[in-house]
Amino acid sequence: MTDEPIPLKPRKARAACPICGRPPAPEMKPFCSSRCADVDLGRWLNESYRVPVTEETDEDGETAPAPLRE
Ligand SMILES: [Zn+2]
Repeated sequence: MTDEPIPLKPRKARAACPICGRPPAPEMKPFCSSRCADVDLGRWLNESYRVPVTEETDEDGETAPAPLRE
């Protein structure tokens, strides 16, 4: 049986800008530029804003369900 250790890191780890796919800049990793970093940040913010918040209606909510009649 082969008992070779499994490498933890893949050799071919081509990091690319997740926004445009260009090779990232050393200072802006993993992005290629500050612009792409801002784009990614903006996406994150949009996602967080889009998170559906289940707001329970207040106790004295005006939209109370009408009482059911028999
Ligand atoms: Zn980019």
